[in-house]
Order: sequence, then C-alpha cells, then structure tokens
Amino acid sequence: MSTTAARTVLTGTPVVPGVVLGPVVRPSGAVILPAEAFDPLPETAREEERARFTAAAEAVAGRLAERAAAATGMTAEVLSATAGMARDRGLLGAVEQRITAGVPAAVATVQAAQQFVDVFTSLGGVMAERVTDVRDVRDRVVAELTGQGEPGVPSPAEPSVLLADDLAPADTAGLDPARIVGLATRLGGTTSHTAIIARQLGLPLVVAVEGLDAVPAGATVLLDAEEGAVTVDPDPEAAAGQLAAARRAAEALAGYAGPGTTRDGVAVPVLANVQDGDGTRAALRAHAEGVGLFRTELAFLGRASEPTVEEQASGYADVLEAAAGRRVVLRTLDAGSDKPLEFATPPEEANPALGVRGLRVARRDPGLLDRQLDAVAEAARRTGTAPWVMAPMVATEGEAADFAARVRERGLVPGVMVEVPSAALLADRMLRHVDFLSIGTNDLSQYALAADRLSADLADLTDPWQPALLALVETTAAAGRRAGKPVGVCGEAAADPLLACVLVGLGVTSLSCAGSAVAGVGARLATADLAACRDAAAAALAADDPRAARAAARGVLTRA
Ligand code: PEP
Ligand code: MG
Repeated sequence: MSTTAARTVLTGTPVVPGVVLGPVVRPSGAVILPAEAFDPLPETAREEERARFTAAAEAVAGRLAERAAAATGMTAEVLSATAGMARDRGLLGAVEQRITAGVPAAVATVQAAQQFVDVFTSLGGVMAERVTDVRDVRDRVVAELTGQGEPGVPSPAEPSVLLADDLAPADTAGLDPARIVGLATRLGGTTSHTAIIARQLGLPLVVAVEGLDAVPAGATVLLDAEEGAVTVDPDPEAAAGQLAAARRAAEALAGYAGPGTTRDGVAVPVLANVQDGDGTRAALRAHAEGVGLFRTELAFLGRASEPTVEEQASGYADVLEAAAGRRVVLRTLDAGSDKPLEFATPPEEANPALGVRGLRVARRDPGLLDRQLDAVAEAARRTGTAPWVMAPMVATEGEAADFAARVRERGLVPGVMVEVPSAALLADRMLRHVDFLSIGTNDLSQYALAADRLSADLADLTDPWQPALLALVETTAAAGRRAGKPVGVCGEAAADPLLACVLVGLGVTSLSCAGSAVAGVGARLATADLAACRDAAAAALAADDPRAARAAARGVLTRA
C-alpha cells in the first residue's frame, strides 16, 4: 500500500484487464452462523429436524442448478459444481448423522462443513479450492434454515466496484456486469474459478489486494486492473485521463480482426485455448487464427473408465472440423494434479503436482497414450486436418524422443510443452526430436518458483511476470530460433496483452489464450514494433519483481 497526498493506493495482482471507476459495494453481510454450544434435540424432534435440513439443502441446490441451467460455459459448470456440493452425499450424510445424534441442523451443518474444509485443505491443490464451495454451501444452507435470506452480492442501482475478501464462484457467476463493473478481492489466485469466470464475463479483476478490508462501502475507487491498483478517492482529473485511455484501448480492441502482427508487420499468430468444438467455433468468431492448445483431458473429467478410441476420435474430429483447416495444436491427456482422471491417475499421491501427471501417466499404462494417438490419427484421417500433437509435463530428452517417435509413426507432427524447468534448460535437446515447443507458463511458474499455482497465498510467486519465468521463456525461445522451429506460449501469460508483447520480445513465435482474450492481445500487439517488444522484454527481465517488471515494460511500450 502507498499513500500519496492522503490518497491511498492498494496494490494486488491484476487478472482481467480494464480500468473502471465507481462506488464501492460489498457482499451483503456475512451469514450469522450458530453458536457452537447447543441444547441437544429431544429424540422425538430429530426426524423432523433431518427433514428440515434435507429441504433446506435441496432448496439451495435447486436454486443453484436453476441458475446453472440458464448460464453457459464455465459459469454453468461452476454453478452446477456448487449445486452438486449442496447435494453431495458425503456432506449431507455427515450433517444427518449429527442431527441423528441430537445436534440442531444449523450447528450440524457448520460442524460437517468444517470436517470437509479440513480434509480438502489438507489435500491441497484443486481440492483446496473446493473449500470456498463448501463454505458457500454451508452459508446458504444455514441462511435457509434460519430465515436469513440468500447471501450473495448486491445489485446496486449505480455501476459499482465490488470489493470482497473472496468471492464464491457461484456469486461471481451470478454477477450482473451492468451493475458490477469491476472486482477486487483480498484473497484469491489468478487461476481460481472466480478468476476464470471474471475473464469469461470480461469483468476487470485484481486479486490478492492487501489492505482492501479497510476500504468502506460507498467510497469511490479507481480500479486499474491493467496495473493491479485500487486507488481510493482518486484525483478526478487523473482518473478521467486513465478512463479515457482505457476506452481508447477498448475501441482498438473492438476493431481487431486478426491476423496477429506487431505494428511493423511481424506475424505472430494469436491462437485460442479450447476444450471442444463449440469453444473452437466461438474462438474463431473472436478472430483466433486457430487452436494453440486443445486440452483433451477436460472432456473426460469425472469419467470412471477410459473413453474408447472411437469416442475420442469423434471428439477430436469435432475440434478439427470446427477449425476448418487452421492450425490445431492438440495436447495429449494432461491427467493428474489439478485435473485428476480416475481412469488414468493414481488415486493417492502425497504430492500430486510432482507425481504421475501429464505424459507420466504413460509410464503406468503406455497403451493409454497409444490409444489416444490412434484416435487423433483417425480424427485427422476423417477430417483431412492433421493437428500438431504435443505432450504435457515433459521433463527429459528421452521422454521427448519417445513421444516424438510415437507421434511420427502415425504421420503427425510432434511437439512438447515446456512446463518443467528442465525442459526449458534443455530446450535445444528437446528440439532435436520434436518440431515445435509450447510453453505452459502456468505450470512452468509453479515449478520454477516452487509455489502451488492454486495457492492464493503464493499468487505473487506464480505471477507470470516473475523475472525467473521470463528468463526461462527467453532460453526456450532462443533454442527455437537456433533450430528454426516455432516456440509458442499457451499458458495464461499469453492472455495478458502487455505481457504478450514482452513474450514476443523474448522471441516466442505464437500466442495462445482464452478466446475472450484474443482480441485484447492481438490489438495490443498491433500497437508495438518488434524492437519495442524486445526493449520491453529486456526491461522486464532486468526488474527485481513482477510489479517492477510490469511497470518497466509498460514504461517502454507506452513511450514507443
Ligand atoms: C500451463 O501449464 O501453462 C498450461 C497451458 O497447461 P494447464 O494450464 O492446462 O496445466
Ligand atoms: Mg500445464
């Protein structure tokens, strides 16, 4: 935090770009939870109390499911997941057991939820994220049982900026972007569900803002989600200037129609990250030039058994057909860690992020990889479009060689993702075997900085502007240049328009990001010459930390 001329500027990690001004609103008052001490229920009242609880949980689940049905994409998925938590048999059973033992329903809900919170917290990774869902369901059920009304975010008459400790994904999904024009949270990471939904809604978001709880409702704030700053009671003239600049940037963005180039005409394809045919079509409408990352595992989350070759082939063909001859980079199953697949990954590992995930699942079952590659080859045959095929989590040259041989056997173009520092350090050797590299900055930062990518507490370490991460990108891109082979970035870093310019300056030859981010990235890149991108990259690399790197790059690119 800094205070200049009595003006407070709070800083955090920017996630979804944009600059907005408005009065602060906060989520409606927290649900009042029951005291821990209670009088045990008489035996005769317990059955009725159980029924009351069942009805309350079902009312909460029903409302969330209804909202899910009215939503699309990730918003619908998140709302359904929260509804599913309100119907989770384990959670419901744990509450009912307590009621049967004489604990009143509201207290039993709090106790059972805490038991689940403890378990999810100890599991870490994506499971720790479910803690927010459990607490959200707890609050909704207790509110329903005690007549407190549904908790959630307000719907102010005037466009406002929502400040919160953290937001339940279901709350973010329910926001009306006409009334809530920006978000800042004290907690939360860049890859949380809240971040993903805000990105989908195009809502400017800054997370991990220290000191946010001291800003009162009603105060005016300037939320600068390019810079990661929340200015309380800003100077009106300066705020107007920043808003005007942001509007100009938004206008440029609206005019973007691809292809991606720097201002001086150096082609840098801006591609999309997708998971199915619908997403591919939407991304192409948003002027993506193709698919830079097809996350094949996402279609199979929650599946108990391996999909057949035919089932896989038809799913892959759907994306290839949608891409209509444009480049498609398909990633083989990235199972494990934050994306466990029951049929592919070991059930219990002490450190799943360092365990059998990505390409490593083929160690346990090489047939799984072969069958997937057969399905990809079949999809290519059917559609007449041959995708490039890359493996996630490659750590050694031997793995790259083995993967490349299997892909080439099927007449396809092999590549590997650079997500483990060892792959970046030996990028030259990886390129002896494969035809391209794609840098997964989400995992590369997690492994380079030794910080869980889902940890809100460590969001500053996994910030893609970390100079160490940028140095690994530079090393990888330089290897690509020497080999004359393409090196793209497909992690979230490529969705940040300013950072995209820096990545190009570091030498990457394509960018791949969420479809909703394509225009912003393409439009920003079109404003910068390659030489300015290189200068910005050098300035960012030389900075001490992500904040300084961002400021240094912005300084160079604004002057250019
Ligand atoms: C990455 O790690 O940057 C990446 C693109 O893969 P995922 O986010 O799916 O792990
Ligand atoms: Mg990854």
